[in-house]
Amino acid sequence: MQRQVVAPLELARPDITQLEVDLVSRVLQSGMLALGPMAHEFEADAARLAGRRYGVACSSGTAALHIAMLTMAVEPGAEVITTPFSFIASSNCILYAGGTPRFVDIEQETLGLDPTLVEEAASPATVGVVAVDVFGKPCRLDSIERLAAERGWWLVEDACEGIGSTLGGRALGSFGAVSTFAFYPNKQVTTGEGGILVTDDDGIAAHARSLRNQGRDEDGTWLRHVRLGFNYRLDELSAALGVAQLRRFEELSAKRRQVVAWYQEALDGVDWLTLPRTEPGTAVNWFVYVVRVAAPLDRDEVMAQLADMGVPSRPYFTPLHLQPYYRERFGYRPGDFPVTERVASETLALPFSTLLGADEVSRVADALRVAGRRTRIRAPA
Ligand SMILES: *Cc1c(COP(=O)(O)O)cnc(C)c1O
Repeated sequence: MQRQVVAPLELARPDITQLEVDLVSRVLQSGMLALGPMAHEFEADAARLAGRRYGVACSSGTAALHIAMLTMAVEPGAEVITTPFSFIASSNCILYAGGTPRFVDIEQETLGLDPTLVEEAASPATVGVVAVDVFGKPCRLDSIERLAAERGWWLVEDACEGIGSTLGGRALGSFGAVSTFAFYPNKQVTTGEGGILVTDDDGIAAHARSLRNQGRDEDGTWLRHVRLGFNYRLDELSAALGVAQLRRFEELSAKRRQVVAWYQEALDGVDWLTLPRTEPGTAVNWFVYVVRVAAPLDRDEVMAQLADMGVPSRPYFTPLHLQPYYRERFGYRPGDFPVTERVASETLALPFSTLLGADEVSRVADALRVAGRRTRIRAPA
């Protein structure tokens, strides 16, 4: 009897074809592994996707955010409003630049900053906002952009999870003075490690290129450094991988949509789950597929049951203000941002990539149903 081999499920997996292999090989054979034409091509392609004039490719999304903060001239003592429901880099970048993150709670629909609370949190020390598009969903960028303009604050859009999504027909990555994308292997598009800052402002673009390149001037004179810079350049191998991925952007996005559609259908009617939703006026190129486990079922218990059945899953995110470093430095406590904390206690990221087939999605959905049945219901208080 032949044993059926079931491939292990993974939370995420990059989609690499012969095109990626060919373009990376071409760079290897060219001998030009850094400071070459691939990064320029990648910058132009990524900027075009966001409807921006300039792209400045960086060695990670975090590096792009760090540079973004420096181009906004964050001074010590300045407060920057941002969300506690995010990946750590969107808040750390404010600290790198000497500013102080001022967390504001989220809306439960968009999972992004609540514009009303942003307005209330403003203080004379507020200089800007870092707004984050979470899971690929646009936050209320139109309202936040308007508010920032009224108050004379700058806006940086952390679109590191949002490439290919739109709000009111406008691409994510096109809001505020500067936006960033990230290309870690689990993102919609990968370069291995990598990120990019996109902007329409030629002064910001020139400043960012200098900061990325050891503080060299625009002319790039090798041993002349006009400011304190960094080595945050994207190498040519990574850029080639990115060029190939962006050539396949429509195909990759269509596959993600298909996998989401399979999940939505397979999980329809599971009454203890809230499925991801697309808000009116938005189109979402999902970064992760995250469901919410409704009380009284316990998310961690469901996760443990899934793990027993060989299905990986992950809580997503753990609130930033409750990270040990932030608690110690700023004295945050549980209860400070209740919407963020409630959402964070319910989220469950399921295996999601363009390489998942319909049968694998059914396998996850079946396991989730079983996990729900097996999960002990927490006794109501
Ligand atoms: C991925 C991501 C980043 C950047 O991460 P890197 O690993 O440095 O590329 C920044 N912000 C958010 C919200 C992210 O998801």
